[in-house]
Parts: sequence; C-alpha cells; structure tokens
Amino acid sequence: MTVRATKRGAARTSMDGRDADVLICGASFAGLAAARELAGSGARVLMLDRYEVGERATSACALVTPWASVMGVEASLRQELPYMRFTTPHGSARVRLPWSWSSFDYRELCRLLFAQCSDVEFETAKVHGRAPGGLAVETDRGTISAPLILDALGWRRMLDTPHVQPPDALISRGLEVHPRWDNSGDELHCWVERSLIRRGYGWSVPAGSEVRVGVGSYEPRDHVKEPTVALASREGMDVERFQGNWFPHALRPAVSDDGMVLFAGDSAGHCFPLSGEGIRTAFYFGIAAGRELRAVVEGRSSRAEAFARYGAFSASHAGAYRRALRLQRLVPDIPPRLLAAALRVVQLQPVADRAFGWYLDQAHPGTFAAPPPRRGVAAAPALAA
Ligand SMILES: Cc1cc2nc3c(=O)[nH]c(=O)nc-3n(C[C@H](O)[C@H](O)[C@H](O)COP(=O)(O)OP(=O)(O)OC[C@H]3O[C@@H](n4cnc5c(N)ncnc54)[C@H](O)[C@@H]3O)c2cc1C
Repeated sequence: MTVRATKRGAARTSMDGRDADVLICGASFAGLAAARELAGSGARVLMLDRYEVGERATSACALVTPWASVMGVEASLRQELPYMRFTTPHGSARVRLPWSWSSFDYRELCRLLFAQCSDVEFETAKVHGRAPGGLAVETDRGTISAPLILDALGWRRMLDTPHVQPPDALISRGLEVHPRWDNSGDELHCWVERSLIRRGYGWSVPAGSEVRVGVGSYEPRDHVKEPTVALASREGMDVERFQGNWFPHALRPAVSDDGMVLFAGDSAGHCFPLSGEGIRTAFYFGIAAGRELRAVVEGRSSRAEAFARYGAFSASHAGAYRRALRLQRLVPDIPPRLLAAALRVVQLQPVADRAFGWYLDQAHPGTFAAPPPRRGVAAAPALAA
C-alpha cells in the first residue's frame, strides 16, 4: 500500500501572496531536471507538487542507462536490460540494443535528483491554474507569483488554457501492475498483438524483485485494464499494485502564447510517440528549460530571448516527433505476418544499431552531459539545435 506523506490539515498552511524568482510546478522528471540546473544560482526557486517528492510513481521507470549517469542517479537503478524482445502472434525477435535500458526505483531516483537541487525550496500544493493575466499561479494553498514559471505538471498542461482533456487530445493511455517476481531476465519485452490491444502494445520491465507489466493504447478511447489483466495473467503474474496515467504523443508549444510560461516534459508533449518513452525526454527538455531560466536569473539573457530560444529548441525536434507519430499510426495497420518479418530484420545487428542509434539521438545523453554555462564562464552553446 502506498503511504501518503503529503501534508494534511494544519500542516497545510496558506502560501497566499508568496513570491519566488522561479516557480517550478511539478516535481517529477521534468521539474526536478529543471530545478537541478538552478542549484546554487542564488535565485529563490520554489518547486510545487501535489505530492511529496517521489511519493507517487508516474511510469514503469525504464530509462536509457547512460542518462542515469548524466543525472547522477545510478544508485536508483534496479536492473540493466541490454535486450528488447518484440513478440507478435507470428513470432518473437530478440534485439541486442546499441545501448541498454535500466529499470529504477522512482522514489529513490527523485530523492537523488532533489538532493542535487541545493537552495531549491519544495512545498506540497495542488496547482489549479494560472491567475488571470498575471505571472502567478493559483493553488489550494493560495496564489504564488514569480517572474519565471515552468509548467512540469505532466499531460494536463495545467498552466495553459484550455487544458488538454482526453479523449480529444493527442494522447495515449497506459496501465500496469507491479507484481513481485524473482527476475533474472535481461530484456524489456514488448507485445504487439491486436487481440491484446487494438492500437498499442504491451510491455514487461523487470526491476529486481518486481516486474512492471502493462498495456498502452494509442487510442485514448480504448480501455487498458482488461488487456493489462489479461497480459499479466497469461504471463503467470499476480495482478496487483496498479499504476496508470495518460501520456501525450504530440509536441505542443513549449512556451505559452503570451510568452510568460515554459512547459517541459509531458506538459509540452515531450513524451516520444510510438514508444511512449517520456522520462529521458523530460530530463532532456527539463535541463534545457532549467538552463534558460538560469541564464535569465544570472542576467546573461533577457526573459524574452531565453524563452524564445527554448521554444525554438523544442520545436527543432518536431521532425523526429512527426516521424515517430507516423510510425505509431502505421504499425497497428501493418499485417501481423509482415510486422513479424520486419522485426526479424531489426534483429540483424547493423539494422538494430542504426534504428536504435537514431532513436537515442533524438534526446542523446551527451547533449547535456557537460555542466551548464555560468556567469563569467565561457558559455557552451547550450541550446544549439
Ligand atoms: C503506465 C505508464 C508507464 C510508463 N512507462 C515509462 C517508462 O518505462 N519509461 C519512460 O521513459 N516513460 C514511461 N512512461 C511515460 C512517462 O511516465 C512520462 O512521459 C513522464 O512521467 C513525464 O514526466 P513529467 O515530469 O513531464 O511528468 P510526470 O512524471 O507526470 O510528473 C508530473 C508531476 O506533476 C504533479 N502534478 C500533476 N498535476 C498537479 C497539480 N494539479 N498540482 C500539483 N502537482 C501536480 C504530479 O504529482 C507529478 O509529480 C509511462 C507512462 C505510463 C502511463
């Protein structure tokens, strides 16, 4: 059972009228990545989330391994998975990746990230939306203002209007169970079977003493509980500890129409279509946003310049997102025998290296491996597209 640590009752004091130099809404992957970039900047950085940091996992927690060292969170890793297996009704293909996945513990990863956010203050508060016309955010603990605001609140994009709502939004849905499992496997398994889910896929991610088994649907109107239960039962696993959410599959503007608020991670549609992988991209764009915010607080850039640069950086990835979305729409319509044959080709190492190399390049861990530019230090072209 999840133990809720979030402040209740008397501990939930009013913050009405409070202000900060930078307000980061959302303390998951994107929010923490951005906050980490502001550590030690001297700015008053306030981060809000409706839950305590790391309290409520938002994913199956599989990450491209090299990103764990970029973020300094290796200690949260549970199992390395150098292979992927793709199963269709007409066969199974095991692919050796040119990199590896690692499953991790969400609470531990968030704790490790937050430990790097020196001087960043955190408060639990539920964000309702932007205060009309202002640089302020309304929460259940009052209105908080800041000249620099980042929405890292996930798919709801709370600080924009109108809010994105399924099923009309370009959004997918996923649900998984986390049974205990003595796992010695070395692969992240994907099932592409229409009898399981019409337009989507199933997965299993070994994570040490448990496995995360679930189903995602690109079609938000299709339900995922029944397929998730069916997949887990078929694989002989207990159906316990459900976890699910929506995740976007199309980029949205990374800066609000009035140029006042930045968006990073799922709030900007940064979750990659087809794979539904959004942790790596939330880190990638969260860092980019954090570096631009830092450039403003250190006086190296005006807000308008920094926000425009970040917006352009996000938009410069539109081609890759469009290509992946095209594949996401195409794959469920490929005749299953043809799909099985195509996956056998992907098994060939040069093909796997090329396809998965391209995939990694879209948010490559090397991009932000170097520390961010600081005042008085020659700046690396942080957001060169
Ligand atoms: C079932 C499932 C499995 C997935 N598995 C993977 C995977 O293995 N690997 C991968 O890369 N991607 C995976 N994804 C996608 C991934 O979870 C998201 O893309 C990723 O979490 C996006 O990170 P984020 O920081 O933008 O948003 P989130 O992780 O969604 O974080 C948003 C934060 O904002 C807070 N929040 C939301 N609303 C409010 C509010 N009103 N007030 C205050 N706080 C609020 C939340 O509590 C949360 O902490 C999966 C998605 C699903 C649904």
